[in-house]
Amino acid sequence: MVLLEELKKITKEENIFVNEPMKNHTTFRTGGPADYLVIPETVDEIKKLIELDCKKTFVGNGSNLLVKDGGIRGLTIKLTGLNSYTINDDIIEASAGCYLAMLSQVAMKNSLTGLEFACGIPGTLGGAVMMNAGAYGSEMSSVVLETEYISKNGIINKITDHEFGYRKSIFQQLDGAIILSSKLKLQHGNMEEIKNKMDELMASRNAKQPINYPSAGSTFKRPEGFFAGKLIEDAGLKGYRIGGAEVSTLHAGFIINAGNATSTDILNLIKYVQDMVKEKYNVLLEPEVKIIGED
Ligand SMILES: Cc1cc2nc3c(=O)[nH]c(=O)nc-3n(C[C@H](O)[C@H](O)[C@H](O)COP(=O)(O)OP(=O)(O)OC[C@H]3O[C@@H](n4cnc5c(N)ncnc54)[C@H](O)[C@@H]3O)c2cc1C
Repeated sequence: MVLLEELKKITKEENIFVNEPMKNHTTFRTGGPADYLVIPETVDEIKKLIELDCKKTFVGNGSNLLVKDGGIRGLTIKLTGLNSYTINDDIIEASAGCYLAMLSQVAMKNSLTGLEFACGIPGTLGGAVMMNAGAYGSEMSSVVLETEYISKNGIINKITDHEFGYRKSIFQQLDGAIILSSKLKLQHGNMEEIKNKMDELMASRNAKQPINYPSAGSTFKRPEGFFAGKLIEDAGLKGYRIGGAEVSTLHAGFIINAGNATSTDILNLIKYVQDMVKEKYNVLLEPEVKIIGED
């Protein structure tokens, strides 16, 4: 409760949640309680939160997260409250909590091309930079020019070399760093062409992905030389279920919450799929989804 009093000094009470079910903050719609969850609205608030002497966890839109059923101890800082942006010629500078879908609409409405690939990715800019999110042959690395972040010691830095790789960035090694904002370099283009491209990509997504069920997108990374979904399908696992977790019948690369799944169901299914694919094809599927929290 001491922490609660500290939090109330830093941010508005309506942005503080105690014993908050993480299923309200993940697209899997599973996950146990966060002791304290805060949604700061300014960098100054973040600075003060970082100074607190407790364990900290950062989340964006929770669209690449599996929070275990035991929940998260200490303080969970959700970054969707940082959501402003500016446009200067062909550069959009946006705060980490801006949704990618919103930014790709903004780009389109300003006749800027380059962010079409991101229109159907349900994450925030911060989560997307952290993960080097990508789709349809493009990824964040092709548009991110510079990122401002705050280190766990409260120092604000800027970097231009993000060391992007397949679903990774330097931020996965910068323990305790919070991404604050990024500059995205786009190109001037034709609004109608950009819109058509986005419509086309959304139609393809809607047809091929189980968007009507809670999930965290592709559960596994693409193993070198293979496609995770194809391996899982070939192993006969489409539709395989543990509790409420199911290998999607539409796209085997997605594990979905088919109804009242727990995170334990999903974890058990991840393990089962890994074991079966390893046994049949000697390929180790590595989760793309970040697994956090307590058992
Ligand atoms: C239906 C569906 C479709 C998807 N399609 C795609 C796709 O096509 N391509 C793709 O790459 N991904 C896809 N995803 C996965 C997901 O949307 C992306 O990985 C997204 O970039 C995650 O952003 P987020 O804000 O939800 O991050 P979260 O899931 O909240 O967090 C992801 C990681 O980033 C960290 N993090 C988040 N914000 C910050 C910050 N500001 N500072 C520091 N660390 C931070 C978290 O600690 C965590 O480690 C999909 C997910 C769903 C549900």
